[in-house]
Amino acid sequence: MVKETGPAAPPFTLPRMHETFEAGVGLTAVDTRMTGRTRVTSAYLVHADQLALIETGPTTSHEPVVAGLESLGLQPDDLAHIVVTHIHLDHAGGVGHLAERFDKATVWVHERGAPHLADPARLMSSAARVYGGEDRLMELFGPMRPVPSDRLRSVGEGDRIDLGNRSLDVLYTPGHASHHVSLVDSGSGAVFTGDALGIHLPDVRVLRPATPPPDIDIEAGVASIERIRERAQSLLMFSHFGPVEAVEELCDIATSRLRKWADIVRAAMDQTDDIDRITQLLVEGTAAEFEDAPSPPDLERYEILSSMKANAEGLVRYWTKRAEAAG
Ligand SMILES: [Zn+2]
Repeated sequence: MVKETGPAAPPFTLPRMHETFEAGVGLTAVDTRMTGRTRVTSAYLVHADQLALIETGPTTSHEPVVAGLESLGLQPDDLAHIVVTHIHLDHAGGVGHLAERFDKATVWVHERGAPHLADPARLMSSAARVYGGEDRLMELFGPMRPVPSDRLRSVGEGDRIDLGNRSLDVLYTPGHASHHVSLVDSGSGAVFTGDALGIHLPDVRVLRPATPPPDIDIEAGVASIERIRERAQSLLMFSHFGPVEAVEELCDIATSRLRKWADIVRAAMDQTDDIDRITQLLVEGTAAEFEDAPSPPDLERYEILSSMKANAEGLVRYWTKRAEAAG
């Protein structure tokens, strides 16, 4: 069972405070104030006959997300759909709590992710390994409640989520995670990219790949970025954080950095199998990417989402699996 323990009132949770902003045509972003930080993780409300929330943030973001939705006039019965791009806890950790609060909402997730939302125990123990222990996991994200199976719908490539006068087309976009989907909004031409392109924080304006274990796949990731490029007519809606208009530029950067990072780690693995040393080589080899940041990069906000050590571990695992598969 998933423990419902953890700090009762984490010091960085800021109840009732919220921030929402217009993110695109009929799209409102809700700052989840993840771990008390602003402009790190966004959720999005799609205004349609049937209202849809894309991403939930973690459980520790529950109060700010609910306050944000209430500030937009939502009553508990009003939300028809909750869609998550993938089940990592910064995107979907709060889905069980939100499904209880908005108890008419259907929850949509890729078919490989659905069992983990119905029973999050394995997901939580896997995440605890990535984030350095259960205590740290609880502090950052909080406990995760299951979603009742009869409220879960699995989606895959080519599916369409009908919102009445608007719809969300599902693109299967593995790479960051094997169960990752992106969503094309018919109303705005925007694509909700989850973590498929990496992390782009608006004040720093640097795109950093997110390559944590367990199932990073570089070739799949590059193919997914190309699919997003083809479908994005107006905006990329990053989960970290907010909308970006420069579709071509960011898709180019996402692809080239993903390949570069993977190559750095592969070269590092020829020198050493010490993960701390490999992490150091990855940090040194990519530091220049932050040189042109318009404001001094607050690296901690990137680190909290996907630390450089986790990125190195994910890429080591990718290359190790490739080598094993090649015999
Ligand atoms: Zn993720």
